[in-house]
Amino acid sequence: MSHLMNTYARLPIAFTRGDGAWLWDESGRCYLDALAGIAVNGLGHAHPRLVKAIADQAALLIHTSNIYRIPHQEQLADRLCNLSGMAQAFFCNSGAEANEAAIKLARLYGHQRGVDIPNIIVMEKAWHGRTIATLSATGSRKAQAGFEPLVAGFVRVPYNDLDAVRAVAEHNRNIVAVLLEPIQGEGGVNVADIAYQQGLHALCGERGWLYMVDEVQSGIGRTGRWFAFEHAGVKPDVMALAKGLGSGVPIGACLADGAAVDVFKPGNHGTTFGGGPLVCVAALTTLKIMEDQGLLANAARQGARLKGGFKAALNGLQGVVEIRGQGLMLGIELDRPCGDIVKQALEAGLLVNVTSDNVVRLLPPLILDEAQADKIISILVPLIKRFLSA
Ligand SMILES: *Cc1c(COP(=O)(O)O)cnc(C)c1O
Repeated sequence: MSHLMNTYARLPIAFTRGDGAWLWDESGRCYLDALAGIAVNGLGHAHPRLVKAIADQAALLIHTSNIYRIPHQEQLADRLCNLSGMAQAFFCNSGAEANEAAIKLARLYGHQRGVDIPNIIVMEKAWHGRTIATLSATGSRKAQAGFEPLVAGFVRVPYNDLDAVRAVAEHNRNIVAVLLEPIQGEGGVNVADIAYQQGLHALCGERGWLYMVDEVQSGIGRTGRWFAFEHAGVKPDVMALAKGLGSGVPIGACLADGAAVDVFKPGNHGTTFGGGPLVCVAALTTLKIMEDQGLLANAARQGARLKGGFKAALNGLQGVVEIRGQGLMLGIELDRPCGDIVKQALEAGLLVNVTSDNVVRLLPPLILDEAQADKIISILVPLIKRFLSA
């Protein structure tokens, strides 16, 4: 009997080392990694420049405390603000914590404006994390069940439906912010329409609400731009980042701009581990390598190759609902639950994931090359066809 808490129905496999887009298991078998630790390992595994930067920093200084200045944290804030056009950053350790910071910021923003019971609009099928507040913001009853009472103050609307948000605005005077994933990850790789994002952003501006985006999964180059919001050309007031930011060391960030700037004052929010020297060096190095290797353009290129390949092979097939996504954040929706495809792909030497029961999800590393993209297609297409005809 395992001494691990039973929180994951794990696949019976453990990896011992990686190199680029490849992973090796305990028996020495090799796998093509089209999941990248769920959008974390953008540089692939064991990138030599990243490994050296982390090792060098570990030998100098791993942790001090946020009660002192942390120059690497200041540099990382500068860098992320330069890339995004945002003005300020707070660093934490995970996506959930980045959203917690966003939620607390929005509530404080509301109180500072005389809204005593601030509400935040959130979306159906949203995923914002597993802490009590972010779980309450999450749109999955399955994830929430058994953890009631949930945190109050969230108003849920359908995704991609601007009229639903307008309807809430009509009668609810307590709204202070909207929280949106420009592309929903766990919810099934659902892409928000450009016009919807622009309309929502404009509505937030009119109403004095904060326009907050959760780019924990879609950010840091995944969609072919640094941030998915760039595709719609509307800059948020608050943005949550995490997964791809540190290439596997735990780091999250909550960025603020416009009316969200300087809402927090000393004592309002904090963290012991967040934004320490080691993780900030890992993030700075990740961003530098992404730029030097042109990984945004590569994500766009290989993403288009994958999407095109899947569409050519699977579109119109009985049982295939839609092939969608942006850059290297792709989903193939089937008309039935398809969790078994994960195991079948594993047996064929390919790591993928199924989310929302019936969406095969691909989140390969941003260093993916053409041959690897073609290999993903050549393994997955016959497997999906066989699955659908069984
Ligand atoms: C993964 C994810 C989170 C939660 O991040 P953790 O690091 O697991 O806490 C939040 N939002 C989105 C969009 C995610 O994909």
